[in-house]
Amino acid sequence: MPSSSRPPVGRLAPSPTGRLHLGNAWAFLLAWLAARSRGGRVILRMEDIDPVRARPAFADQMQRDLEWLGLDWDDGPHFQSHRLDRYEAAMEDLRRRGQVYPCYCTRKELRSLASAPHAGEAGPVYSGVCAALTPEACAAREAQGRLPAWRLRCPETPVSFTDLRRGRQCVAPASLGDVALRRSDGVWAYQLAVTVDDAAMGVTQVVRGEDLLDSTPWQVLLLTLLGAPTPEYLHVPLLVDEAGERLAKRHGSLELAALREAGIRAEAVVGWLGHSAGLQDTPAPVPCPASALVPRFTHQALPTGAVPTPLDLAACLRSLG
Ligand code: GLU
Repeated sequence: MPSSSRPPVGRLAPSPTGRLHLGNAWAFLLAWLAARSRGGRVILRMEDIDPVRARPAFADQMQRDLEWLGLDWDDGPHFQSHRLDRYEAAMEDLRRRGQVYPCYCTRKELRSLASAPHAGEAGPVYSGVCAALTPEACAAREAQGRLPAWRLRCPETPVSFTDLRRGRQCVAPASLGDVALRRSDGVWAYQLAVTVDDAAMGVTQVVRGEDLLDSTPWQVLLLTLLGAPTPEYLHVPLLVDEAGERLAKRHGSLELAALREAGIRAEAVVGWLGHSAGLQDTPAPVPCPASALVPRFTHQALPTGAVPTPLDLAACLRSLG
C-alpha cells in the first residue's frame, strides 16, 4: 500500500446470510492485513439489511470464525439493521437536492438490492423510464397504491477513482445508469448503506473482492454527494473453484466451520491463504498465525489473476499440519 501520513481505517463488512467460506476468509484476511500492516484500525460491520437472508445466528458464527482465523477489530460489531435512520437522513438529503427520483418500475432486479452485487449479479443498466415523471404522474401511480423505489440520478460526467492494483479507473455515465438506493418496500440497497456507513465510520481504506469493483463508481459518486472523502480502494483477485467459479456458499466443504470441524487448524488455513497471496517465500504453504503475515503484507505481492482452490483443499490443509 502507498505510504500515507495517517494509518488507515479499514473495515471487515460481512453479510450474515450464511457461513463464512474460504473466499470470505481470503478477502477478510487481506483487508485486515492491509490495515494492520500500516498500523491501521479495523471496524467490523455486519451488513444485515436484507430482511429475508440476514440472520443473527450467522453474525454470531461469523465473529467466531473471524476470531478463529486470528483477525481482530477495534470497533464494532456494528449492525446496519440498527442504523436505518442514518440511511433515511442521507436519502432525505439527496431527495432535497434532487439527486434521487421515485421509480415505479417493478423490476425483478430490485428484489436483490440489499445484497452486494457480486460479478454478474448487477442486472442491466436502468433505462431511466421514470427519471422524468412529473409530480402529477407520480401522484397518479401512488393513487393506484404503487409505492416507488428510489434511484440516484447518474452523473453527466465520468466517475474516476484509483484502485491500488488496477490503477486509475474512469467509468462513463452510460455504463452506470441510475442505480436504485431503496426498494419500493422500504428496504435499503447495499450501495446506499455501505456508502453512508463508510462515510460515517471514517473508513479510509476499502479492501474487498474484485467482483465488487463495478459497485465502486456508485459509491465514489455517493460519497462525493454526501460530502465525504473517497477512501483508497484495493480490489483483490478472487478465489475460484476448479471450474473457475467464484467460491460461494454452495461450496460447503470450504466453509470455515466445516474445515474446523474436520480438524484443520486456523494456522493451516491462514498459511495457505498467505502463500496464495504471495506473502510467503517458501515453495509450499507454511502454517502461521495471521499476525505473522502483518510485516510481510504488500498488495504488490498479490497474484494478478484469480486463485484456483482445489475442492479437496481440506486434505491439502491437513497435510500441512
Ligand atoms: N457485505 C458485502 C459482501 O458480503 C461486502 C461489502 C463491501 O465490502 O463493500 O459482499
